[in-house]
Amino acid sequence: MEKLTIPVDPAYDVLLGEGLLNRAGELTAGAVHGRHVMIVTDDGVAPLYLNAAVKSYEAAGFKVETFVFPAGEAQKSMRTAEELLLHADSTGITRSDLFAALGGGLTGDLTGFAAALYLRSVEYVQIPTTLLAMVDASVGGKTAVNLSTGKNLCGVFYQPRLVICDTSVLKTLSSPLYAEGMAEVIKYGAICDGELLDRITRGSDITGIIADCVRIKGEIVCRDVHDNGQRQLLNLGHTFGHALEKLNKYAIYHGEGVAVGMLIAAFAAEKHGICVNGVYRELKDMLFAHNLPVSTPFSAAEVAANAMNDKKRRGGTITLVLPSGRGRSILYPVSASDLYRFIACCDGEVTGI
Ligand code: NAD
Repeated sequence: MEKLTIPVDPAYDVLLGEGLLNRAGELTAGAVHGRHVMIVTDDGVAPLYLNAAVKSYEAAGFKVETFVFPAGEAQKSMRTAEELLLHADSTGITRSDLFAALGGGLTGDLTGFAAALYLRSVEYVQIPTTLLAMVDASVGGKTAVNLSTGKNLCGVFYQPRLVICDTSVLKTLSSPLYAEGMAEVIKYGAICDGELLDRITRGSDITGIIADCVRIKGEIVCRDVHDNGQRQLLNLGHTFGHALEKLNKYAIYHGEGVAVGMLIAAFAAEKHGICVNGVYRELKDMLFAHNLPVSTPFSAAEVAANAMNDKKRRGGTITLVLPSGRGRSILYPVSASDLYRFIACCDGEVTGI
């Protein structure tokens, strides 16, 4: 088992290895105060892993409650959060008890959000079951639900007490779900680690790659917990990716939006002389090789219009994350009124195809 520490205040561990779900109870017991846990999961993960999680917590002496909600981005809502909170209340979870998020990034975001609010906060642990959640969503304490006007528009920063990544659960992921996790992995390489890009190309062991991503995320998050500066680098591809998710009515995976979003950012950055040539081509080839989309039928104008209510917008400015070289990226503020002009060059190459 590998252990990485996320050095925020309070610090917490990310545990990584095969078969850890069966030890989740024992591992959690060492990190939290309470012994009454509500395990939150969706109805895609429940038939696969809920029993194992329940058994493990019971064996470690926890009283266990469960909350299972229908899978799908539409469920990441205030309504589901309220149902979860009411269920916690009805089962007598107290302020010294905890929630455990067993599932993908959606389950983690929803559970963390509810944990931050319930009785003015209870502890929670993350047990991510998708690659995307292991490398990204479960670490860093960003929690949220969606509003009808956009993704993740209502949330709080609230760090988990522990993250348990059992890599054996990745075996049941569908190819598109695995691929969308790879989009986030490639994102870390593009942001700040050219060697990680090499390891991905060589097809290195996924456990080591997950550990690299968690390490990068931990280093960036601890310098900027509340996302006011360098943490925004982690949003490479996300401003346009979220716009694409919205344009597709959330029928595409988050990672698929991020993949095309990164390419919009890279292509525009090269065209404007902000990024050295060749970065866009390499990213495109890598994403394609991992079965990710590399273009969208939506035009640059549609993408720009839908990126306007991105939550990273501050006043009239949107801070884009742009690759500046191989394994390097920068924050690049653009006024909202210039956004379309900035990415218009993508039509015919990444957008409008
Ligand atoms: P998800 O949580 O919606 O899960 C996708 C599907 O995978 C679901 O149907 C689920 O039942 C199924 N599933 C999960 N684990 C499985 C497994 N091991 N085997 C088989 N099926 C499994 O999707 P996701 O891609 O993990 O997460 C996307 C969400 O994460 C979005 O809501 C996004 O906004 C959020 N996110 C948050 C952060 C953050 O920092 N908080 C970062 C990135 C993404």
